[in-house]
Amino acid sequence: IIKTSVLSTLLTWLLLLEKFNLYSWLTLYFYWVMHLEVLLPMGVCPLARMPLLRDNFSGPLDPGAQPEVLTCTSWGAPIIWDGTFDPDVAQQEAVQRNLTVGLTVFAVGRYLEKYLERFLETAEQHFMVGQRVVYYVFTERPAAVPRVPLGPGRRLRVERVARERRWQDLSMAPALGGRLGREARFVLCIDVDQHFSGAFGPEALAESVAQLHAWHYRWPRRLLPFERDARSAAALGPGEGDFYYHAAVFGGSVAALRRLTAHCARGLRRDRARGLEARWHDESHLNKFFWLHKPAKLLSPEFCWSPEIGRRAEIRRPRLLRAPKEYALLRS
Ligand code: UDP
Ligand code: MN
Repeated sequence: IIKTSVLSTLLTWLLLLEKFNLYSWLTLYFYWVMHLEVLLPMGVCPLARMPLLRDNFSGPLDPGAQPEVLTCTSWGAPIIWDGTFDPDVAQQEAVQRNLTVGLTVFAVGRYLEKYLERFLETAEQHFMVGQRVVYYVFTERPAAVPRVPLGPGRRLRVERVARERRWQDLSMAPALGGRLGREARFVLCIDVDQHFSGAFGPEALAESVAQLHAWHYRWPRRLLPFERDARSAAALGPGEGDFYYHAAVFGGSVAALRRLTAHCARGLRRDRARGLEARWHDESHLNKFFWLHKPAKLLSPEFCWSPEIGRRAEIRRPRLLRAPKEYALLRS
């Protein structure tokens, strides 16, 4: 009872703060506010006690392996946490299917020198080890792409894009329709300003895959930073939105990604024509897409963790770590 009343007080405060648009501000400047988040329950997978939850790569899942976090969604998609799947089964399954997995990454401007080499080197150690992998690096300077030694069955392709293309998916669409689309069965699209730190295997593959945002996975739904301006194509109404997904990691089959990129490109074009820009740009449109078309699988924040958040009991094995932000230095 005490815990419930503490939580409801906390929630009331959070809602009040959100009313005045203060919550993001507070978490930015007062680090400790974030630590209170861990008191908010994430919810429990209704299927946790039923051995029904399956994953087309790792077979039967154990949604009860992490009882303190949500391990499935209301529409029955698994949320992949460490311990809920068997990595060996996932590995064998992927080998049996003889898959080629694509990994797309943009490295434009200073991001190339700053991040790409470590990104690729650590991907060689941790990303889909034992599978056939094709890296697709999108850059305006193909000659500057570092020559990272690749393991057997792994290759790197470089695609030239115009420098000013901030919106990645616009430039990814032709690739999906071309060689990338022919070569890869599944594709993961990942930001370059991070490095792999643990096994990121076929358990992360599905028809469509969304990443729970490390900064928001414990926030109450109505506080999530969706676009709320009804004029924007990315707008979600009150009560809409399941989770806040991070645009730094998403993926799926080539067909699903073509639908996603087309949706986001259309939304961005429509907004621009009206002189609008969604709150979190492409990420807002991605969140709208996944609200309308539920992802088949969600990745826990272990798959894209921000070390600034500090230690969390449920983050046992981070697989990808984000670099600290250095916008002033890197952009422009
Ligand atoms: N990016 C890039 N050059 C830039 C800006 C962005 O290559 O000048 C690519 C890069 O892959 C980066 C991604 O776009 O990881 C998203 O940009 P950023 O990481 O700055 O956005 P945020 O993580 O803040 O959403
Ligand atoms: Mn990033």
